[in-house]
Amino acid sequence: MVVEANLELRTQVLRAVREFVQRDVLPIADRYDNDDIFPHELVVTMKEMGLFGCIVPEEHGGLGLDFTTYAMIIEEICKGWMSVSGILNSHLIMAYTVAMTGTEEQKRHWLPLMASGEKRGGLCLTEPNAGSDVQAIEMTAVREGEEYVINGTKMFVSNGEHGNTFLLLAKTDRDARPPYKGISAFIAEKGPGLEVSRHLDKLGYRGLDTSELVFQDFRVPAENLVGGEEGQGFYAVMSALELGRINVAARSVGVATAAFEAAVKYAQQRKTFGKPIAQHQAIQIMLADMATKVAAARLLTYDAAAKKDRGERCDLEAGMAKLYASEICQQVAMDAMRIHGGYGYIKEFPLERYYRDAPLMIIGEGTNEIQKLVIARNLLKRYAI
Ligand SMILES: Cc1cc2nc3c(=O)[nH]c(=O)nc-3n(C[C@H](O)[C@H](O)[C@H](O)COP(=O)(O)OP(=O)(O)OC[C@H]3O[C@@H](n4cnc5c(N)ncnc54)[C@H](O)[C@@H]3O)c2cc1C
Repeated sequence: MVVEANLELRTQVLRAVREFVQRDVLPIADRYDNDDIFPHELVVTMKEMGLFGCIVPEEHGGLGLDFTTYAMIIEEICKGWMSVSGILNSHLIMAYTVAMTGTEEQKRHWLPLMASGEKRGGLCLTEPNAGSDVQAIEMTAVREGEEYVINGTKMFVSNGEHGNTFLLLAKTDRDARPPYKGISAFIAEKGPGLEVSRHLDKLGYRGLDTSELVFQDFRVPAENLVGGEEGQGFYAVMSALELGRINVAARSVGVATAAFEAAVKYAQQRKTFGKPIAQHQAIQIMLADMATKVAAARLLTYDAAAKKDRGERCDLEAGMAKLYASEICQQVAMDAMRIHGGYGYIKEFPLERYYRDAPLMIIGEGTNEIQKLVIARNLLKRYAI
C-alpha cells in the first residue's frame, strides 16, 4: 500500500490531536493512570476525530493518512499519556491486516466498521506459553460446516476487556511443518464462548485494559477467515507488525520528549548552590545527551514510516527505530528523573509515570532481543555475499 503524504491534512490533523491532548488527555492522565481507569470519554472523542480509521483507505471510510502522519499522531498523544496510544495501536494493526490481506468482501464489510470505531479491538496473538515464539501457539480452529470452532487462551490482549472485535491467530493445521504454515487469522467478534478471564494489573500503561481471554468452543463464521485461505495468518500478521513497531517507536519518542521537556524546564527553575541547576555543566551534559537521543530516535521512526509510505517492506528500519527509540526512552525518562531529584520520585510530577511507561516499549511488539534478531536477519540478506 503506497500512501501519498497530504501535508495540509497532516497539519490539520496534528493540530486537532494537540488540542485533544491539551484539552482532554492531560487533565485526566495522572488520576486515570494511578487508579487504572479506562478513558471511555476519550474513545468517544477519538471516534469523532476519525482516529480509529486514520490509516484506513478513504474508499473504506478512513482518513487515508500516510504512516508518517500516523507516527506523528502517536508521538503527540504520548506526550500526554502513553496508554491512549494503545487504544489505537492493535486496533489499527487489525484494520491494516484486513486492508492488506482481506478479501474484497471482508474489506467492504469490516473496514468502515473498524474505521468508525464501531468495531473496536485488537490483536490476539500471544498465549500463556507463546510470546516471542508465535509459531508455538496452541489455540486451535477446527472447521465445522460454515463455522470454525476455536479453543485456547490468549494472554496480554490490549483492549481485551472494552474492545469488541479481535484479529485472532489460531492453528488450523497442528501438524504443519514448519508450524507457521498451519496458522490462520480470523476476525472474531465477542460472543458466547469468549470470556475475559483476567484483568492484568500493570506497572505502567495503566488505564488501558490488558486481559487474558479464554475461548471455549467459540464459533467464528468461516467467512471471517482473513483472506479466505487457511495457513496465511502468520505472514499476514508479521507484515502488519511493522506498523506496530513504528507505533512503539513513535510512542517512545513521545514519552521521551515529554520527559526531556519536563527536565529542561525544571532545570531552569530549581536552584542549588546559588544558581539554577541548568547552569551546572553536569546537568547541561545530561540535557544535551537526552535531546540528541530523542532527535535521533525521531529520525529513525520517520525514516521507517517513510519507507512504509513508499509501499516497501521496512522490517529492518522499523526494527531499528523500535529498538533504539525504546532503549533511549527508558534512559531519558531515568535522566529526567535524576534532574528532578527527589521530586522526580513522587506522584505530584508526571516523571514517575514516564518512568513506569518506558519499559513496556522494550517488551511490546517483539522484545528488543527479538528486534536485534530481525535486524540481523535483514542485514545478512541485504549484505549477502
Ligand atoms: C502491556 C502489554 C500489552 C500487550 N499487548 C498485546 C496484545 O495486544 N496482543 C498480543 O498478542 N500480545 C500483547 N502483548 C504481548 C507481548 O507482545 C509479549 O509479551 C512479547 O512479545 C514477549 O513475549 P513473552 O512475554 O511471552 O516473553 P518470552 O517470549 O517468553 O520472552 C522472555 C525473554 O526471553 C527473550 N527471548 C525469547 N526468545 C529469544 C531468542 N530467540 N533469543 C534471545 N532472547 C529471546 C525475550 O527477549 C525476553 O527477554 C502485550 C504485552 C504487554 C506486557
